[in-house]
Amino acid sequence: MILFLLLAALLPQQVLIATSRGQTSIPVANETGTAAVAAVLLAQPLGLTVSLDGTAAHVTLGNGGDTFDFDVGSPFVRYDGAAYPLVGAPYIARDTLFLPLHWLADYVPRLLPSRYRWDPWLARLDERPAPAPPVPAVAVAAPNPITGLRLAHTIVVDPGHGGVDPGNPGLTLPRGITEKDITLGVGKLLRAELVRRGLNVVLTRATDTLIELASRPLFCRADCDLFVSIHVNSMPAGRRQKQVNGVETYFVSDAKTEDQKRVAQMENDALRFETSPAGSGGPLGFILNDLQLNEYLRESARLAELVQGKVAAIHPGEDRGVQQGPFLVLAAARRPSILVETGFATNQQDGAFLGSAQGQRKIALAIADGVVAYLLEFERKIAGTGGGQAR
Ligand SMILES: [Zn+2]
Repeated sequence: MILFLLLAALLPQQVLIATSRGQTSIPVANETGTAAVAAVLLAQPLGLTVSLDGTAAHVTLGNGGDTFDFDVGSPFVRYDGAAYPLVGAPYIARDTLFLPLHWLADYVPRLLPSRYRWDPWLARLDERPAPAPPVPAVAVAAPNPITGLRLAHTIVVDPGHGGVDPGNPGLTLPRGITEKDITLGVGKLLRAELVRRGLNVVLTRATDTLIELASRPLFCRADCDLFVSIHVNSMPAGRRQKQVNGVETYFVSDAKTEDQKRVAQMENDALRFETSPAGSGGPLGFILNDLQLNEYLRESARLAELVQGKVAAIHPGEDRGVQQGPFLVLAAARRPSILVETGFATNQQDGAFLGSAQGQRKIALAIADGVVAYLLEFERKIAGTGGGQAR
């Protein structure tokens, strides 16, 4: 909130919209005490379209089809199934819909980081040409009031499986729900929480669709600091099937135990749903050869430790600790990367927790806590060595 009061003090008289088609100045209205922009003035520069249905306003940006839903008079915006609080509410004056500047300056660039960038000092929104060029981390003047972070960070959140690949079917999950639904639910909640804390987030999938394992890490290249993949564990049929429970967090490495091999095999098995042929020699050979040189291994282990600690603290099951395994989805990301097995769909208590909105929310908040704790450590470390940029 302090940040927004500060922004209010620096309230711009106008915002500049810069696109490949030119630049447009839009006046900022402040008649209700909320800095706002007339939606109609954004129509041309941003390709924005609005449909009003009573007090419900659906705002679509560009031809990307990204839709934000507002309710006139209500200080929230909904995007992709999650609600985000606004400083001030949208309102209608002189037959014109006004949208809070907070939405345009804050949520648009954070929820669509590959397409938009906001410069608070110039009050300028840049539409980035596709494909988006990498953006160096920007040092901010003061630490973020919620997290204490000083640098801009982008987190890639990867909800496991999707589309024709349901992941594990989940003996104990609510009827009709499989692993892919849990991972998508937790992934979207995690995105909402990280965005609320001022971080940039890219989801590898926001719908029920299959993204190939090998292309998931490609979301985490230049403009990415961390890669977090979300999954649900299961035990094979047998005596211990229903007993085993709890959360574990993996980073990529050679599997050391039978259990670790089983989980890696299970998650890499998504390959069989993919249509493009894997490279010769098998993907895992490549991963392991490359591992010795993986400078991110130690960082990944630390990230795994912090996230595991936070999730285990709120989880009804056991703390199964940090594990290592040769996960294809983690190996190609040249950033600290982890895979969280959020619980066992073969255990009654875990299944009920994972299938509940409350459980998914607790897991998402705990992962966000671990991510922020890691980034704070990372910023302290680079400040200590005189390094200048976040990765
Ligand atoms: Zn999985």
